[in-house]
Amino acid sequence: MRRGLTDVPDCPWGCSTPENREHLMHDCVNFMAIARELHHWGFSLPIIHSWSEFTGSILTASKLDLGPFRIFAYVMYQNWRARNAKLHGQDFGTPLVLAASIMENIDCASTSPSGRYWGTNRLHRPLSIFWCPPPPEWIKINVDGALLTNNGAGIGLTARDRHGTLVLAAGSGIMHWDPGQVELEALLSLRRFLTPAMLEAKGIIIEGDCKNVIDFCRRTLQRSTWSTPTIMEQELAFLAELNNMMVRHIPREANRLADYCAKYGMYNTFVWTDRMVAPPEFLEILQADLDGMPNV
Ligand SMILES: [Zn+2]
Repeated sequence: MRRGLTDVPDCPWGCSTPENREHLMHDCVNFMAIARELHHWGFSLPIIHSWSEFTGSILTASKLDLGPFRIFAYVMYQNWRARNAKLHGQDFGTPLVLAASIMENIDCASTSPSGRYWGTNRLHRPLSIFWCPPPPEWIKINVDGALLTNNGAGIGLTARDRHGTLVLAAGSGIMHWDPGQVELEALLSLRRFLTPAMLEAKGIIIEGDCKNVIDFCRRTLQRSTWSTPTIMEQELAFLAELNNMMVRHIPREANRLADYCAKYGMYNTFVWTDRMVAPPEFLEILQADLDGMPNV
């Protein structure tokens, strides 16, 4: 199939390779450059070598796990549009601009409430152990819970922008014996801290390192109808106020700042919107996350 493909055999992005569909979805330099930008923000594309592998993956993926394939398809589409613009001497975006536009638009076409939510899946490349900044004009929220043996617990939350700048950090102590419930309370505490910047952001990424809780939230958010909402759906309904929202599971190493807030919050309820009022240990982790973060 070469419909729409150029008569010039080599890929117009200078790949020195014949331009065919497999090339455009796997090893084209421009496709990979867009994928790299997305990876910097914590979105890893599935690795797909052929069209049949792509269609096969979509058919067998569960509804919960379609998110990465939607992004993959959108990357192919944006790369194709840019390629056509290039061939016709028109302006086309850099990989960074294309990646940002993918993030902006990925959910807007959907009209169902469930379509506004999506997440990561097992087919990904390994998740980064580093904290990743969100896309431009998005905000990333990290949540964590900490539990002591005496049922003393803390919940922590951080919000940062694309540059890793602190928007807000909060923590408080609670009494609970169930670590999963503590993690869930940390996520639910976000409703108390929604700022105008979060409500006006193009999107919010919520990350936590407790897989069970993150999966539970995703399943709740993806349920197709909220006509008779469960208690949990009511608890999470505040997330519908956000423009775009996704919930992701990340390794503990990438969630250290929220972990610090949960432990600090056990004994000191706090809300910081200015990093200068935070303790040195907090600033050290904030800086380490920045140092680990790719150059954006
Ligand atoms: Zn190419």
